[in-house]
Amino acid sequence: MRDIWHFLGWFALFFSLLSLRSIAVAPEGETSYDSSSIYNQEESLIVSTDALSDSGSTLWEPILGAAPETDTPTVALPAPEVKESSEPLSTVTTFVRPDGVFAPRSLRESLRINYESDAFSGKISPLSLVYDGDRVEPRGQVSGRTLTMSLHIPTVDESLAVFIHELGHIVDIQHLRKGTLSADPSKSFYALSWQSSSEKIPSATIADFVSGYALSNQYEDFAETFAFYVLHNETFRKRAESNESLRRKYEFMRDEVFSEEAFEGTDFGTETVAAYFWDGTKLPFDRKKYLFFIR
Ligand SMILES: [Zn+2]
Repeated sequence: MRDIWHFLGWFALFFSLLSLRSIAVAPEGETSYDSSSIYNQEESLIVSTDALSDSGSTLWEPILGAAPETDTPTVALPAPEVKESSEPLSTVTTFVRPDGVFAPRSLRESLRINYESDAFSGKISPLSLVYDGDRVEPRGQVSGRTLTMSLHIPTVDESLAVFIHELGHIVDIQHLRKGTLSADPSKSFYALSWQSSSEKIPSATIADFVSGYALSNQYEDFAETFAFYVLHNETFRKRAESNESLRRKYEFMRDEVFSEEAFEGTDFGTETVAAYFWDGTKLPFDRKKYLFFIR
């Protein structure tokens, strides 16, 4: 009998500690939000279709094999600071997962320059950016205002392109859809090629999409178009001259998403883009030139 009371005592202690922990890690403004629930949140819309065919387990090697740089890695999911209520919400908070995993400085700097850039910052914050050492595929994922990046993408260039693609999802789902009462501007983009989220309009052809992956559903169409507009604007504009749907998608990005001239006339691609390609995030581009431009 004494053993049972002993057991129940530990049982009660365990659960009281567990509930204390979930209180301790919940940032303000979110209900039940901890390092595991980020991935289990029942969002009304979770975009998680970024698994692409041509990457595999070899992606683990480059970053795991690299010697850690000397600067301190981003701290993992700290207890939230109490912030001043007057603080503007234009913030990106970064986390690593699991605790202590190493996110290379070149990667963090590249993404930081991107999300702090005037072209993006007002459209994508507040944002929780999670560097995920456990994730391989999908390489990036958006859930609510949490953007998760795999740390196993082979190059910083590709990571940055994936990040821009994921920012496209944030702009589509969070920025343009300001509250449920107002009209969703993204709908006029979707209507160019889609009659439901994953069903194309009967007249759609492959040439109406910037990439093969954009054919997946209306959200991937938006994100791929967004990233292509940012990194390969001039190539996009030229392709749009001979395709009405592409022309309107280009104009949507220019007029509804970016201020005029934000990327017009730029092209950071370093090779001729094939008429058909699968994944826009694998197109080579000049990362330094791009970061210098948006800085
Ligand atoms: Zn996507």
